Amino acid sequence: MNAAPLIRELNAAGIRLSATGDRLHVEAPAGAVTPEIRHRLAANKAGILTYLHQPATVADLTDRNRMRAALLALADGLHLDRALVHRLTSVDLADCAGFPADALRGYLLALDDSATRHAGKVPEGETAPIYCQHCGPVWTHPDVAAVLPVVDGWPRALGCRWCFIRKAGGYIPRPLVTCDTCASFQPDTVNPGAGMGTCACGMHYPMQPHRCEQYQPKDTSHD
Ligand code: SF4
Ligand SMILES: [Zn+2]
Repeated sequence: MNAAPLIRELNAAGIRLSATGDRLHVEAPAGAVTPEIRHRLAANKAGILTYLHQPATVADLTDRNRMRAALLALADGLHLDRALVHRLTSVDLADCAGFPADALRGYLLALDDSATRHAGKVPEGETAPIYCQHCGPVWTHPDVAAVLPVVDGWPRALGCRWCFIRKAGGYIPRPLVTCDTCASFQPDTVNPGAGMGTCACGMHYPMQPHRCEQYQPKDTSHD
């Protein structure tokens, strides 16, 4: 089996493979190696090891070195961290062959975006809160928020650029919310004047801004 497509697919998910003898080493962000990926790695181990042990020709090495040097120059021009380029595998570098500089710049910017999110930081310019159907409250670019339908006070998205971080079990920095606009909040009926209430997450002051991944905008259509 040609293992290159699988290795490429895993690279794109931040999963790096290397080999020592007949041992396959897997380096991945927390949660990235799902049971399905584990199964595919086990089923294709022999092919992957063969691919990783393949000796590179002098021409291959020269091409990769040239490509890495070209990407480093583009990264410098974009003021990006050079480590993004140094982390690229030989498969990544081979995939870049033949693409124009603009496409390679786009690739580097996408790598930088992923690395920023994996580090638990919000990419520059993402200053608009939206509600992702799967992730809950997250930040996005105002241009993206502007074209989303607004439901119960929140621009709504069926998916977002944090979804892959959530799937990998990573940290998502979130906009502040208040319990008084959340569907899960139950105002205290015994002593409503005290300004308290509860939800499954515990007891809160309704107006206190905090970060909550379980926030669900309250249906305001009947208010
Ligand atoms: S789910 Fe979060 S935002 Fe909603 S009521 Fe509970 S603590 Fe407040
Ligand atoms: Zn999402």
